[in-house]
Amino acid sequence: MPQERLRARAAGAFARGWSVRLRVLTVMMAFVLVGLAVTGMLTYAAQFRALERRVNGELWQEHSELTLIAESTHEDGSPVHTTVDSVLLQATDSAAPSDYESVITFLDDRPLYQPRTQGFALVPADAPGSAEVLEQVLAAHQPQKSVIVPIEAHGRELQVLIASVNVEGDEAQGIFVVANDIGAQRRDLWQSVATFAGLSVITLLVAGWVGYAVIGRLLRPLEDLRSATEQITVDDLEYRVPVPAERDDIAALARNFNRMLARIQAGFAEQRRFMSDVGHELRTPLTIVRGTLETTDVEDVGDVRESHDIAIEELDRMGRVVGDLSELAASARPDYVRPAPLDLAGFARSAFARIEHIAEREWILERSVDVVADADEQRLMQAVVQLAANAVRYSDEGSGIRFGVDRVLGPEGPEIHVTVRDEGIGIGPEDQRRIFERFTRVDGSHGSGTGLGLPIVLAIAEGHDGVVRLLSTPGGGSTFTIVFPQFARRAPEDPPPPAGDTDRRGRGPEDDTTTASRRDQG
Ligand code: ADP
Repeated sequence: MPQERLRARAAGAFARGWSVRLRVLTVMMAFVLVGLAVTGMLTYAAQFRALERRVNGELWQEHSELTLIAESTHEDGSPVHTTVDSVLLQATDSAAPSDYESVITFLDDRPLYQPRTQGFALVPADAPGSAEVLEQVLAAHQPQKSVIVPIEAHGRELQVLIASVNVEGDEAQGIFVVANDIGAQRRDLWQSVATFAGLSVITLLVAGWVGYAVIGRLLRPLEDLRSATEQITVDDLEYRVPVPAERDDIAALARNFNRMLARIQAGFAEQRRFMSDVGHELRTPLTIVRGTLETTDVEDVGDVRESHDIAIEELDRMGRVVGDLSELAASARPDYVRPAPLDLAGFARSAFARIEHIAEREWILERSVDVVADADEQRLMQAVVQLAANAVRYSDEGSGIRFGVDRVLGPEGPEIHVTVRDEGIGIGPEDQRRIFERFTRVDGSHGSGTGLGLPIVLAIAEGHDGVVRLLSTPGGGSTFTIVFPQFARRAPEDPPPPAGDTDRRGRGPEDDTTTASRRDQG
């Protein structure tokens, strides 16, 4: 079992690919590596060039000293050296070769003098290969000239100054040779390159180790967040990820994540409630139809007709519930309400013309304001018709129903008030909050309603960035007012929760007015 778990964990890690930690570390290490390599290369390339320049400079310096000796004169102007031999002797005596230098002189192509102590001998008498070195030097010699040439001798890489020495009146041909073991100095430099590379690798390893630890520490809250999110399932949306104490991006991410979880949880809960409401609502007519059919005496024509009527009535009711439910579901879409400039006087006239035929009442068009507002004519009409149908349903024949469209200056700018006022049974204060919830019907309300009419009206009001206000007293009639801003505001960034969500209501501006809205939900 543990083996399986290990395998699963390894598979999970593989599926996740490289962790952020490894990726950040790799990038960091790559930068350090490239930085060290470029620095090393540039530094050592410069040092190798400088070495070459210095060695050549030192050789030419020896040449200058040789020239000084050859051209030196007594006080009377006569030359100090009258023979090549004398110049070579003096030059050899005054040469102070460094550890990397060797000096030798030739007279008529034969080795003559060399200093007693020097770093190494260019042509040691008994060393094998000396003859070839001698040959190389003599071959490189150009009469009357001084040259610097690279020569390999006894396994050494040498930079060699070969200078001709001639004195007036002396036929002999002298050669002054200074060899500098540039190879040994290059080797020293390469050793330093190796040391630098070794230290760079150590630096890289230390940086990698420290980086790995530091990045791990920095990312630990993110890792906690990741493992916490793995524990969240649809069945357990209670869980909240821990919010780190620091006020940084990760804390903000955790907070946002928790907020999102809360919204999802509320959405799921609402969905469950909705399904249970719908189930409950549809079960009743189904039970009635089934019960009726079961008890019908099929031989009795009168009984069959009665059952037929009941079944049709209940199916109609189910049809209305299903239709209203689809409407309510549609109202959750952001494009459910599409406000456009609407002439309210024209709207009031056509809405009134439509509602006054719903039933026999004393219909009064109370007010109609002549302004243009941002509204969805079709949806607003639908809400008005619903409110008017309710007014009819809950009032007596012959009573008055007033309809009006007004413009009022509200605290946040001009508002449009669309009002339907009846003289019906009214609604008790305890029910005024509930009736905007779906499937809510007040006891004793007149039968055929689905309990979805007011939630749809509310959804339409909210689609206009508005609310529904209710002023009602039992027995004293009800006034429903859809209130929305005359000019549409900018679209909200967070869409409103789906229709049918738990209503939150506050008291309206007037004390006994109930304002229905889901906007103020946090
Ligand atoms: P219904 O289809 O049952 O009318 P609504 O959502 O439109 O559903 O209304 C919910 C409840 O609110 C109704 O059952 C009724 O009790 C109450 N109601 C709505 N409008 C009025 C009104 N104008 N007068 C009195 N009660 C009303």
